Amino acid sequence: MSQLNHEIAILGAGIGGLTTAIALCQRGFSQIKVYERQESSANAGAGLVLWPNATCILHHLGLDVEISKIGGRVLKMIRQSSDGELLGELSITDLEKAIGFSSYAVSRHELTQILLDKLKGLHIDINYSRNVENIYIDKDNQTCVEFSDEEKITPDIIIGADGRMKSIARKFVTGNNKPFYQHYVNWVGLIDGTPLDINQHKSVQDYWGVGERFGYVPISDTKSYWAGCKRLPLGLGEPSGGNKHELVSIFKSWSHPVREIIEATAEENIRRIEVFDNDPIQQWHLNNVCLLGDAAHAALPTSGQGACQAIEDAWHFAQCLSNHPNDLDLAFTNFEKLRYDKTKSITLGARGFAASLFNEDKTFCKIRNENAKKSDTKAQVTGMSQLWGNGLPEKELSKELVKYLFQIR
Ligand SMILES: Cc1cc2nc3c(=O)[nH]c(=O)nc-3n(C[C@H](O)[C@H](O)[C@H](O)COP(=O)(O)OP(=O)(O)OC[C@H]3O[C@@H](n4cnc5c(N)ncnc54)[C@H](O)[C@@H]3O)c2cc1C
Repeated sequence: MSQLNHEIAILGAGIGGLTTAIALCQRGFSQIKVYERQESSANAGAGLVLWPNATCILHHLGLDVEISKIGGRVLKMIRQSSDGELLGELSITDLEKAIGFSSYAVSRHELTQILLDKLKGLHIDINYSRNVENIYIDKDNQTCVEFSDEEKITPDIIIGADGRMKSIARKFVTGNNKPFYQHYVNWVGLIDGTPLDINQHKSVQDYWGVGERFGYVPISDTKSYWAGCKRLPLGLGEPSGGNKHELVSIFKSWSHPVREIIEATAEENIRRIEVFDNDPIQQWHLNNVCLLGDAAHAALPTSGQGACQAIEDAWHFAQCLSNHPNDLDLAFTNFEKLRYDKTKSITLGARGFAASLFNEDKTFCKIRNENAKKSDTKAQVTGMSQLWGNGLPEKELSKELVKYLFQIR
């Protein structure tokens, strides 16, 4: 068997699984199969920002030009209190300059479509409606993936890209796949159609309340997404009057244009998500199974980095495997070593930020906001760029593209 002819099964066709398939194919691995439990490609959530660290990887995967066509440039992040008082401005342009790539706000659907088109061009099929039920060591001492229809496969390499909520691969590797509810609910919404005037500012708007937060991100003149978040107990279920009605009631007294944004969104474009994450774990592999993306290190949405880190994983995983294709333990251990510290910092940082944002004590929130007004946002951007820019491939090469990438669309 030629060394790159390993049979590789990727469990999960989310952003991590799809990007990993592309990265592996580009490294010369030719026998890649993706298995996804859903009938079609996952489209959870409304939009996300591909921060410059993710764009760097997408450039190396030959996808940055496609991304630039669907993505909207955002230049700054404006923090405000729920009544519209300015708390601070973070320069996204400075972040981009420090890392050497642009940021793009994208709809998840369009990002997924770009990844799917690329996979199609690489002749990698996605096997839909294949729910992994179990992973175990069989009587021949092989690692066996069993699907709900009882079909079994024993590939050479199994990549657990099956997300944060009930990763079967994580259960195989660690014995435990129970995520932690972090006491808040996210409603995400996508606005199609009439642009709001706020679109023109090319900025992320971040409003902080007491136990509540609202964020808005423009993608283009006719598309934007938002997230409304509130500290709530687990298991309340969908509100009887609909999500939009509930959100208007939660955010009714907030500064313009929060309420208008919610009202401009169709009910069917709003999703309610109870937010979980996972404790950092140091070992991401067992035998020939290796975790990546949320299955390995799910961070809260307050990190802004979940998808970006899954994309980074894809690159590093493919590189580690192609460096040691015949020593999986070494390849997977190197991958963990490369990725653990960064993803752990992001997971724990996101928890700390969430604990502050969703604190329900009015005095705490008042002091938090006062501190935000006094804080050095330039230093914050430097800190973000140091963390997010850490461990990216061939940074010097990326600078050649800066001129092109810095053209504001
Ligand atoms: C509310 C919310 C908002 C977010 N906002 C942002 C953001 O703005 N920016 C950002 O970067 N990140 C954000 N994230 C995080 C981001 O969505 C994830 O980190 C990212 O999608 C991880 O990709 P993944 O491929 O590892 O996992 P997923 O996207 O979860 O993909 C896992 C895939 O595996 C499939 N699967 C699961 N179990 C099985 C099984 N048993 N058999 C077969 N297939 C299976 C699933 O159907 C899914 O398609 C957010 C997360 C949440 C919850």
